[in-house]
Amino acid sequence: EMSRSFPPAVDVAIVGSGPNGAAYARVLSERAPGATIAVFEVGPALTDPPGLHVKNIADLDERLVAQRRSEGLRPHTATKEEAAYTDPTKRVVRAGTHLLPDGFQQPGEDGIPALAMSSNVGGMGAHWTCACPRPGDAERPDFLPDLDELLDDAERLLGVSRDPFGSAPYSDVVRERLGAEFDPGRRAERRVRSMPLAVHVRDDGALVWSGADVVFGEETRANPAATLFPEAQVRRVLVEDGRAVGVVVHDRRDGSDHEVRARFVVVAADALRTPQLLFASGVRPPALGRYLNDQPQMVFAVRLRDVARTPEAEHDPRGDTAIVQQSGVSWVPYTDEDPFHGQVMQLDASPVPIVGDDVPAPGTVVGLGWFCGKDLQASDRVEFDDTATDDYGMPKPRIHYTLTGQDRETFARARDSIRRAAAALGDPLGDEPFVLPSGASLHYQGTTRMGAVDDGTSVCGPTSEVWGVAGLYVAGNNVIPTPMACNPTLTSVALAIGGARDIADRLTADPSAVSAESGGHAVPA
Ligand code: FAD
Repeated sequence: EMSRSFPPAVDVAIVGSGPNGAAYARVLSERAPGATIAVFEVGPALTDPPGLHVKNIADLDERLVAQRRSEGLRPHTATKEEAAYTDPTKRVVRAGTHLLPDGFQQPGEDGIPALAMSSNVGGMGAHWTCACPRPGDAERPDFLPDLDELLDDAERLLGVSRDPFGSAPYSDVVRERLGAEFDPGRRAERRVRSMPLAVHVRDDGALVWSGADVVFGEETRANPAATLFPEAQVRRVLVEDGRAVGVVVHDRRDGSDHEVRARFVVVAADALRTPQLLFASGVRPPALGRYLNDQPQMVFAVRLRDVARTPEAEHDPRGDTAIVQQSGVSWVPYTDEDPFHGQVMQLDASPVPIVGDDVPAPGTVVGLGWFCGKDLQASDRVEFDDTATDDYGMPKPRIHYTLTGQDRETFARARDSIRRAAAALGDPLGDEPFVLPSGASLHYQGTTRMGAVDDGTSVCGPTSEVWGVAGLYVAGNNVIPTPMACNPTLTSVALAIGGARDIADRLTADPSAVSAESGGHAVPA
């Protein structure tokens, strides 16, 4: 079979096809029409259109296959009886994700045992829960004057609905009870409310979950200058004279390597593999891999007290292929006074195990998940090896991670808070909130973080361009510099939009150079 051809040169090379890589492709398609864009993704395309959320695949077997194909070189999802979350003592692994096989914990440290990634077109965005809260108080970077407008645009790209389950039979009850408990003393913007979700309800009532397909949008799919390359791993960013000038792509279909020149390179390859690619490319600013930040998480479940039993509420959600809506998803926002993010959702939508063998009465059991802001430290980091390689031939990662005294204090306060929430709602199932192993949040941040100035504590500036390497941009939750406790995707996509606009401005300011680069060639493997 003939080798696939890769373009010798493009205007913008994007590494990674999750929501953040897709956001760059979308904004560039909108703002710099004619600019050539190549999106490289190490994993396979699961769906047509590419990047669909797998929960939209109605056939369960097809969905399991799609999840398995997202799990890299050591897949685990095999059967309908997939066992994620059944044994809380084991490393948690979610369908559609694969764990870092080793190096996740060093002797004497806490480590991040459940550190996971997804390797497929759409990234984790083909598997996520779609919660899209806005950051507040200390969760917000304080040096971005246009953050709110960027968040508005991120909601547009992700297709966020403010209250998609507004008519759920128990949603009012849940919110009223939580509001009575938590709202006194809070600013309006930080009161209990429905969780905004990247979900819309189709005319026939079915739910459609946003994946990278929604972020790419028709604007990207109809753009003849934009191309997606699945099973195409970027192994190196080419840097010459302090500028990114292209990438080396490894075709995982036939093992061949190709050089693709580019005027701009965007690395949106998740919080582990973005710093890995920079390291492999010799781009090693002092903050690279540091301030690694996984939100400590605890969960609890409660049976709603004194609720009317409507016919919808009696519907048994177990075995449904889509989320059911009995109690919607409610949000207890983070505040500086209470630095945790609470989400309360009907169990089928929640990454929470049903406690013990208590069989919930349909619709009346809700899961509570409380995420904490981490006490950030430079010593929490992913380190890479100059000689040893991982399964994908890239510098092998090693995690250093320790919870601090302040983290333990925050955790104790979160435990009180989740107990208060449970008591307000009904009768807790189980005595104690359950602490999930580190990494279960799937919200890793900080490893290529953004800063206002180049003082050694950040990797990129306010437009996401890497300090000291012109034309190299980083994207993803790894760019978020704050101890964010809420689900980070809306924020990372907002920051990506800012970076993509910057590239679009630079491309359109110098249109003569668009597509005028010369000279890539296939390099021998
Ligand atoms: P990813 O989606 O991880 O995409 C990165 C892509 O880069 C991957 O496809 C990867 O294969 C590719 N890649 C890596 N290295 C290379 C390389 N060298 N060459 C080419 N390609 C490469 N977030 C929320 O905000 N709300 C939620 O409710 C939520 N729930 C979640 C539930 C689950 C089960 C999971 C798994 C995640 C959840 N998340 C949630 C997290 C959310 O999915 C991520 O924040 C989001 O996907 C990050 O987008 P990204 O584009 O930065 O990275």
